[in-house]
Amino acid sequence: MKGPARELEELTEAGLLRSLRPLESGAGPKVIREGRELWNFASNDYLGLAAHPALGEAFIEGVRRYGAGAAASRLVCGTLPPHRELEEALAAAKGSEAALSFPSGFATAAGSLPALAGKDDFLILDKLCHASLIDGARLSGATIRVFPHNDLAKLEKLLESIRNKDAKARVIVVTESVFSMDGDLCPLREIVEAKDRHGALLFLDEAHAFGVLGPYGMGLAEALGLQDLVDFQMGTLSKAAGLSGGYLATTNAWRDLLVNRARSFIYTTAPPPALAHAALASLRIIRSEEGAELRLKLRENIEVISPGHPSAIVPVICGSSEAAMGAARELEEAGFMVPAIRYPTVPRGRARLRVSLSAAHQGDVVRDLAGLLEEGVNHG
Ligand code: PMP
Repeated sequence: MKGPARELEELTEAGLLRSLRPLESGAGPKVIREGRELWNFASNDYLGLAAHPALGEAFIEGVRRYGAGAAASRLVCGTLPPHRELEEALAAAKGSEAALSFPSGFATAAGSLPALAGKDDFLILDKLCHASLIDGARLSGATIRVFPHNDLAKLEKLLESIRNKDAKARVIVVTESVFSMDGDLCPLREIVEAKDRHGALLFLDEAHAFGVLGPYGMGLAEALGLQDLVDFQMGTLSKAAGLSGGYLATTNAWRDLLVNRARSFIYTTAPPPALAHAALASLRIIRSEEGAELRLKLRENIEVISPGHPSAIVPVICGSSEAAMGAARELEEAGFMVPAIRYPTVPRGRARLRVSLSAAHQGDVVRDLAGLLEEGVNHG
């Protein structure tokens, strides 16, 4: 029987071994790792809210009011006032009847897809969907179809062929508004039109758009005025919202079904009430004037690295794992933490640096990084 050492060796030989590199500081635009200060271009803290004093205060206030833990699963006796308030606020912000929160974005995707689709149903996924969506789809037992990234013609064909075979099946298109490793957007308007034409539903993961896109930071569907037409608006509170947790905004009936069927909601302890209380404060900031100003600052920083780029995630494709790892090491030596992303997270030969921008980055630091990336492109 092959033990873990052999598997680890194989990963090492393939240049794919990953290991934890803990920080010696809190999260923020500047962190300490292995005794060195580094500018942090690796986190998903797009608005800089993870270290926002108002969120810290809300957390503390939440602990004072409700205690440290929820002490039970949501269905038993773990649904406390802030859980309910957060879900009401998320539903209102998303323009939907209801919302349900989960312990994480991963738990939202991996738990809700199996609740929404079963063996007689079809899930149609974009090829670059996040691991949590893929795992959720696999767990559902539904027939899975995959279309090449953002390929509308192929999506249309799949919808058509499923409908020709089975007029009644539940068909759900699953995609993301901002793709997590490429930072590009899905063609949401066209996807909405296609799913409506074929009587399908749309599950949209707004993980990297929440807080970042739209006049009130509610994501791509809000930016395009399409919130009413997206059947399942999923997102996380773990990135721009600066905390952790996930949500799904939908109708009352679908929400009730999730409460009954989503195993990652039912069979886990409710998130700490103070976290939900802090998430409410985060949502308030994201939707406020301050949130709009932070989005403007973020936009300025994105423009420095990649003019016109639609999101806070900017990939710099290096090719081989070694090239990406080498580039990340060089940047680290220069004082910048920018992660190398390798297979299996991205396809082989498409290893990259993944630059994550934040409103918390100072303009001159972003300009310095842009200069180094430019040099790498010219000489690398
Ligand atoms: N969806 C996407 C597109 C993501 O990038 C991530 C996080 N990497 C998740 C879901 C999971 O979110 P969380 O970190 O809150 O579990």
